[in-house]
Amino acid sequence: AARQRVCILGSTGSIGTSTLDVLSRHPDRFEVVALTAHSRVDELAAQCLQWRPRWAVMATAAQALDLSQRLRAAGLGTEVLHGADALVQVAGHDQVDTVMAAIVGAAGLAPCLAAARAGKRLLLANKEAIVVGGALFMQAVREGGATLLPIDSEHSAIFQCLPEDRRTWPQRIDHIVLTASGGPFRSRDPATLAEVTPEQACAHPNWVMGRKISVDSATMMNKALEVIEARWLFDLTPRQVRVVIHPQSIIHSMVVCRDASVLAQLGTPDMRVPIAYGLAWPERIESGASQLDFLGLANLTFEPADAQRYPGLQLAWQALESREGSTTVLNAANEIAVDAFLNRRLRFDQIARLNATVLERLAVPADAAASVEGLLALDGRARSLAGELIRTGRI
Ligand code: NDP
Ligand code: MG
Repeated sequence: AARQRVCILGSTGSIGTSTLDVLSRHPDRFEVVALTAHSRVDELAAQCLQWRPRWAVMATAAQALDLSQRLRAAGLGTEVLHGADALVQVAGHDQVDTVMAAIVGAAGLAPCLAAARAGKRLLLANKEAIVVGGALFMQAVREGGATLLPIDSEHSAIFQCLPEDRRTWPQRIDHIVLTASGGPFRSRDPATLAEVTPEQACAHPNWVMGRKISVDSATMMNKALEVIEARWLFDLTPRQVRVVIHPQSIIHSMVVCRDASVLAQLGTPDMRVPIAYGLAWPERIESGASQLDFLGLANLTFEPADAQRYPGLQLAWQALESREGSTTVLNAANEIAVDAFLNRRLRFDQIARLNATVLERLAVPADAAASVEGLLALDGRARSLAGELIRTGRI
């Protein structure tokens, strides 16, 4: 059989490198045809030398020139492109079968839409893209005939608990329960959260991830984004998506059925499992992850998410129950807040407050969610407002 031709958007990141790790175990099944990065030229050069893709994409022309000279010197024929248009071009190219969307942030929306419209197998790690795109994202998937497979571990878990035929989902599902680890500050005195540093926030107890999602896990804005992501992926009402803290990260999420039966997916916390599932679905292939050692497991415990400690979490339902486009606003504010926190311009405890303020203050036009342009304009306005609030200290 012909090998699946894979494009990895964000190949130098945490999900990108885990994806290459899974691919390296199945050389007969997959071929890497495009790799993209943003700032890490050295890493992308090394990946190109190993994988010999047809295309490589960097952010700027200068980086692309640098990369292309290095690859040429090594005798590679890789075509080096640059910029946001190049991401769209490779994601939708007819020589690509599968797109791993592993860019962080709303920057990944345009290439995701291109892959959706071109009918690709679209492996979605980039949750911000679906949070920003909402109904239009799902429409592009349907109209393009794409196969959308969730990579976020919780959503992969839900997907693994459901039958292939989507039409049976509504009558089957009462609600879903997304599990959350609670992040590094689950037991910390909430009064001391103002002093938290970026280094502390990025030290996650169970997962090693990029810096943005690590901060999101600590504030639980990550779970808020996942609630919104689940609403769209599984066509649920906001009330049908619930969250429980499960500090061990062994149960990756659960479906509570109409008959009160609960289906769960379990495994060691290793992103190569959902990645391998997305790559091989509906088959299963070796992922490289270790198996669960049941007898060595500590207790599996559950606790509610405390609204005082995680004030950002409830913003998911607030945004979902407001005018469409509100989730775009929430995501944009959060991207600005996290960046400011990582650059020490915003305190940790101010992230959720800033998000709430922007969500409250920004008026969403009635037709904002009618087009991608409308959503991107809204995204831009939310970013400006968030930036202004940080600069003027009116958080
Ligand atoms: P990383 O920060 O590790 O990687 C992000 C990747 O995207 C890098 O290759 C980076 O390039 C590239 N990139 C960053 N900004 C841009 C931009 N503006 N335009 C184009 N490319 C860009 O993030 P993760 O791998 O941790 O996360 C990726 C996505 O997957 C996120 O949406 C995250 O929420 C989601 N996810 C991640 C999980 C994890 O375990 N890490 C788990 C579940 C979901 P460069 O490195 O060259 O700068
Ligand atoms: Mg997740």
